[in-house]
Amino acid sequence: MSKTVFQKIADGELPARIVYQDELVVAFHDINPQAPVHVLIVPRKPIRNLASVTPEDAPILGHLMVKAAEVAQQLGLGATGWRMVFNSGPDAGEAVPHLHGHILGGRHLGWPPG
Ligand code: AMP
Repeated sequence: MSKTVFQKIADGELPARIVYQDELVVAFHDINPQAPVHVLIVPRKPIRNLASVTPEDAPILGHLMVKAAEVAQQLGLGATGWRMVFNSGPDAGEAVPHLHGHILGGRHLGWPPG
């Protein structure tokens, strides 16, 4: 199976504005930001989306959430708040089939989402 754009970023084959990386996850600025802060965090493991996870992925997902919170704090969102979004499947607008959490903040975020 060919690599997704996020797999290529995680493997260092495509440029990205990386804000955090370790052996399990990579976080980088979204190329088309929807808020003053819009960072994506992805597992290095090529999991398609949240609907595709298995129980064995639980440690990776837990780590991803912990690191997302650290990244949000590092980017100055600690006091004002932020949102994490996982688009899964066509109705949610999933465009890249590699699990990714959107970390959004820096402005008031409406609810319900569009
Ligand atoms: P989704 O609709 O949840 O699949 O979100 C995909 C996101 O990936 C969008 O917000 C895009 O702007 C973003 N994106 C696509 N290609 C890149 C890239 N090369 N670098 C950073 N973000 C990207």
